[in-house]
Formats: sequence, C-alpha cells, structure tokens
Amino acid sequence: MTNRRDFLKGAGVLTLGAMMPEIAVAKSKKTAKKGKKYIGLQTYSLGPELSGSNVAEGLKRLQKMGYTHLELAGYGKGKIGGISMADYKKMADDAGLIITSSHLNPDTIARSEKYSKANFTKLTDFWKRATEDHAILGVPFMVQPGLPAIDSIEDAQAVCEVFNAAGDITKQAGIQFGYHNHNREFCRVVAGGKGKNPDFTAREGRQIEEIFINGTDPAKVIFELDVYWTVMGCQDPVEWIDKYAERIKMLHIKDRMVLGQSGMMNFEQIFKHFYSHGEDHKNFYVEVEDVRSGKQFQRVEDSINYLLAADFVK
Ligand code: MG
Repeated sequence: MTNRRDFLKGAGVLTLGAMMPEIAVAKSKKTAKKGKKYIGLQTYSLGPELSGSNVAEGLKRLQKMGYTHLELAGYGKGKIGGISMADYKKMADDAGLIITSSHLNPDTIARSEKYSKANFTKLTDFWKRATEDHAILGVPFMVQPGLPAIDSIEDAQAVCEVFNAAGDITKQAGIQFGYHNHNREFCRVVAGGKGKNPDFTAREGRQIEEIFINGTDPAKVIFELDVYWTVMGCQDPVEWIDKYAERIKMLHIKDRMVLGQSGMMNFEQIFKHFYSHGEDHKNFYVEVEDVRSGKQFQRVEDSINYLLAADFVK
C-alpha cells in the first residue's frame, strides 16, 4: 500500500517548490477574464452550517453566490473538520472552487504555553506533519491565526524563530507560511515584560505585530491582515497595508457582522491601497463571525453581494 509520503511524491506536490502561489494567481486571472471578481471566503464563517454531509452541497452554494476560492479552517488529526484532505479537495474541485489557504494552530503544546527552546521541536514537528497533510490539498498558503502566549519582547522574538522555522518547512512543499492577527497583536510589550497580557493601555515598548513583521524573514513568512481586528486594535489598516506592503500579502475582509453594514470599515480605501501594491496583492477572504447564529449562509451571501456591487473590488 502506498504511504502518504509516497503518494505526495507521486503526485509531484513535494517537488513543486515555490510554484504553487503563482498557480493560484494564474487561475484567478483566467477567472477574471470571464468578468468574475476574485473573492475568497474563510470557511470558518459558516460554522456548523458547513460540516459533515453538508459540505459538498454547501461549497456548490458558495460558488453560485460568486465566491471563487477558499481559505479553510478546522485542521486537526490530518483532516479538515473530520473530512480527509483528499475528499475536501475533491468536493472543492467539483464545486469549481480553488482552495488557496488554510488556517491552523499548533496542537502539540498548550495555547497558554510560551514558545521557547524547550518546546521548539514540538512546534516544528507539528508544522512538518501539517505540511505533509496540506500538500495533499495543493494549497499555496498555510496560516497560523492564533496568537501564542506573549508578554515581553523576548517572548515575541521566540515566536519569530518558530515562524521562520515553520516557513522553512512549508516551503519544502511549495507552500508559503503566514500569520493572521486579531487585536491583541497591536498591544505593546517591553523587554522583560510586565506580566500583564494583553495590555491595551501600554504606551511604551513595541507592538507585537511589528515585532513579528520585523523579526521574521520575508522569504519565509507573510502576513494576512484582518482589517476588522486591526481597527479593534485601535489601528488604521490602510496605514499597515502601505507601511508593510512587502509583508502583508493577504487580507481578511471583515466587519462587525455583514460587510458594509456597520459603516465603521472604510473598505474602499482598504481595497484601493491593497491592490495598489501589485499583482501579488489580490488574495483576500471574507469572514463573518458569530458562527453559531444559524444565519451564516445568508450573511456570507449578503457580504459577497456588497463586494459584487462595490466598484472598488476587482
Ligand atoms: Mg480573521
């Protein structure tokens, strides 16, 4: 019987090198020629409405709404929400959707445990295993969305070392590693720490997100800016998109609920500035939280309709 690694080699996925992201962009250009906008969805948005036996049908509904690609959530035990990587990929293919990214957090240490030399190998072991699994999806990006325990500059720098190592590992399968923020990344930390995390009142020290960006290798780690959580961190996402254009290559397009309804997000400027940084700045994913509302398919549809009607979205 062929083992998983042989299967990957046979399928060529472990030898594609850095080609994968270009493949995704090439496919998107083809889609754009048909007059369709290139709009992704973070599947976490649908919560239990997209699970188990509902997935195949749900993915088809998303394609009909106008979504072109997906960022998955729910990786665990070699599967996505209990569905094998190969089966998930086939269902996406059948629905006409491209899987371009996946969110996942290391499960080999507790979320409350700080990154250190002592658990470095446990963390890199996770990324090795996860990379083998994600190579089956042919996915160009793997993104960590969860902030590790940090309350000092040194803690954040230890995380940067693991991110660089993760980037090295994923690259071997042609996959780009990335990090996705919430609001706590915009808190400031000082050398030695103050034992209070998160501290939104701190005015001294360095912002965690800035330490991550400047402490990681651009060849190994990219950033996916969640624009809503950036605003909730009391920051202007447009400033970050422009200041770190070489590092922020993907966005989470999110509002308090359905896109455009709160009036608090300046999506027009967000999109204009993001697109202005070149052809490799086109990947974004709609995200709608409150995932157990029972109304998520409707909210995801209302959200894409806002983007389809917006002339600033390509
Ligand atoms: Mg997000």
